[in-house]
Amino acid sequence: MLSLVLIDSCNNDISAVSKLEINKIFVGKYKIQCLKALMFYPELKNVNIEFREAEIGTTLAARPVITSFFNTDYERKYEVIFNNATHCEVPFSDLPEEGQIGILGHELAHILDYETKSFGQLLVTGCFYINAHSIRNYERGIDLVAVERGLGEKLYDAYYYILEESEASLRYKNFKKFTYLEPHEIMEVLQKTRIRIKF
Ligand SMILES: [Zn+2]
Repeated sequence: MLSLVLIDSCNNDISAVSKLEINKIFVGKYKIQCLKALMFYPELKNVNIEFREAEIGTTLAARPVITSFFNTDYERKYEVIFNNATHCEVPFSDLPEEGQIGILGHELAHILDYETKSFGQLLVTGCFYINAHSIRNYERGIDLVAVERGLGEKLYDAYYYILEESEASLRYKNFKKFTYLEPHEIMEVLQKTRIRIKF
């Protein structure tokens, strides 16, 4: 059933859908959203990614599995973690479905970035997180990657929901507003892109 919907959106290319599942572990209820987000990142086709649920400090996060860097076969692994804890400011399950695909696309853009980095460089990326302005530059850059991949409208849905419709605290909303692209900024990028395509 889930696959059928995706096959439709993949122009009946069954192999394209099954290729997206290589080396992936999904959380059943979000599998379709994950596959739809993965369609925007063909480079991640063979990359090991486990999607799982856990209580973390944010709605969704992607990170390298550090132990995988010490495997003898040196197969990097990443995890994308959904947070649905009741005390989470914005549980993943509360987001509209298009928004869920949008922020999954943001996390996959992180993995795309991690893939270009050595273990040492990943540690440095981690160090950026010490400074709020570095986080801002990094996260907004990651948002732009997701927008350029074609996920702009979906990311807009996610951020609009978080800022305008969710019951998150003002403190959390201000953090989101400062750190990530604001919905109107995403629209501006989309409009510029459309004008570029027209000419
Ligand atoms: Zn991020």
